[in-house]
Amino acid sequence: MSTPRTQQQWQQLAASLTINGQAYINGRLQPAISGETFTCISPVDGRGLAEVASCDLADAELAVTAARQVFESGKWSQLAPVQRKQVLLRFAELILEHRDELALLECLDMGKPISNALNGDVPAAARAINWTAEAIDKVYGELATTPHNQVGMISREPIGVVAAIVPWNFPMIMAAWKIAPALATGNSVILKPSEKSPLTAIRFAALAAEAGIPAGVFNVLPGYGHTVGKALALHMDVDCLVFTGSTAVAKQLMIYAGQSNMKRVWLEAGGKSPNIVFSDAPNLAKAAAEAASAIAYNQGEVCTAGTRLLVEESIRERFVGMVGEALKAWKPGHPLDPATMSGAIVDQQQLDRIIDYIGIGQSEGARLVEGGQQVMQETGGLFVQPTVFDGVSNRMRIASEEIFGPVLSVIGFTTAEEAIAIANDSIYGLAAAVWTSDINTAMKTAKALRAGSVWINHYDGGDMTAPFGGFKQSGNGRDKSLHAFDKYTELKATWLVLE
Ligand code: NAD
Repeated sequence: MSTPRTQQQWQQLAASLTINGQAYINGRLQPAISGETFTCISPVDGRGLAEVASCDLADAELAVTAARQVFESGKWSQLAPVQRKQVLLRFAELILEHRDELALLECLDMGKPISNALNGDVPAAARAINWTAEAIDKVYGELATTPHNQVGMISREPIGVVAAIVPWNFPMIMAAWKIAPALATGNSVILKPSEKSPLTAIRFAALAAEAGIPAGVFNVLPGYGHTVGKALALHMDVDCLVFTGSTAVAKQLMIYAGQSNMKRVWLEAGGKSPNIVFSDAPNLAKAAAEAASAIAYNQGEVCTAGTRLLVEESIRERFVGMVGEALKAWKPGHPLDPATMSGAIVDQQQLDRIIDYIGIGQSEGARLVEGGQQVMQETGGLFVQPTVFDGVSNRMRIASEEIFGPVLSVIGFTTAEEAIAIANDSIYGLAAAVWTSDINTAMKTAKALRAGSVWINHYDGGDMTAPFGGFKQSGNGRDKSLHAFDKYTELKATWLVLE
């Protein structure tokens, strides 16, 4: 456990932090082969944190070769599952032992509040690895129902070399959701973190090595999407590409797979999730508080953010007032202040995007009822107020396009059928919530919603035991739970006819 710290103490720890920005290939921290670097800038105060290796095709070649060689050697891929489990359990422990350092890196690198990083991101990443490790020696193959003189064995085998490309909003958690099942099933992995938040991934590499993962099994290549990301996606010797990020890049990755070796491509992409509140919601105060956190947590930079708040007309005005009240707790603050709930936006480009969308909402005729301003410019950091638009129509751009910031669109409805039609009128299908005291309305709505996760009378529930992923253009395949193993294994049928 970490000791509680004040903002000043976190700042002192930040000042003494040694940050490594190198790539990790075949068991070694090393610069990019080209020697190129980019500066990692903190959105907390605009300070340069580290020079980070800008990897490209040459580094990808090196990492893929190392990953393939060690895969073929069997050093990891052929270990008994219980042996891989022991190493991964130690990896998860080490993450918790380095909790303060990892939380601080995540906070400085992408701007999230230190308390979230410490109490949310670090334990969730460790839990993903721990849960998956615990499961791996408990999943069995199958025997087919054969005639007496035959044996049909159905088994799972690791795919080989897995490239994992992840985003910047939950860098450790998104990485853990991929690397845990990939490593547990015996693959070699190359992790490409976002260029906006590479630091914790690099730290993970050293911790994985300390836990006993052999050289070449887990590699980390920081760098840009269009350089090293593309190189991995087009690589003829990468067997599987797993991705979390935007729908636009997800589509591009499918093209790269088709242009190269038809590698398996698993995509967790964008969302525009509806949060449907009926007038008979069991607890409107709770619904309002969760509607606020659904749009403000992690500065709204959440794929499952409840960005479309669908409210029954009879309570709309009152409920919007309650959400506005609840959002007062989410006023942006210094990310290193342990009391802060809402931190900095990841970078200038993302801040500009959010501010642009606020302008678009106004010009589309939506009514700005909360927020709408950039704040705390004097800190050198990037902060924006949680923002609420009422009177939104689902066809407006602020309701149909993913903003990825704390901008809420409120849409009124009068019947359950209308709410469902609005909710499903989206290219996305990642998550949805429904609030009602009527079990029939709850279940009928939940069944009708085209989304990978549906929450009843709360927002954002679930844990490692439940699969996570999207319908429609929110992606394919599932992270978390035993279903995640499907992505990282090939199914083999071995048939024996007895003489
Ligand atoms: P992004 O798509 O811009 O980038 C994601 C990753 O892809 C980064 O590592 C980036 O460098 C890389 N990349 C970009 N172009 C590439 C290319 N041509 N080839 C290979 N790699 C490339 O997304 P982002 O801005 O980092 O993250 C925000 C997005 O992620 C949002 O759309 C959000 O909804 C989504 N997201 C989805 C989930 C989910 O589980 N469904 C979870 C978190 C975030």
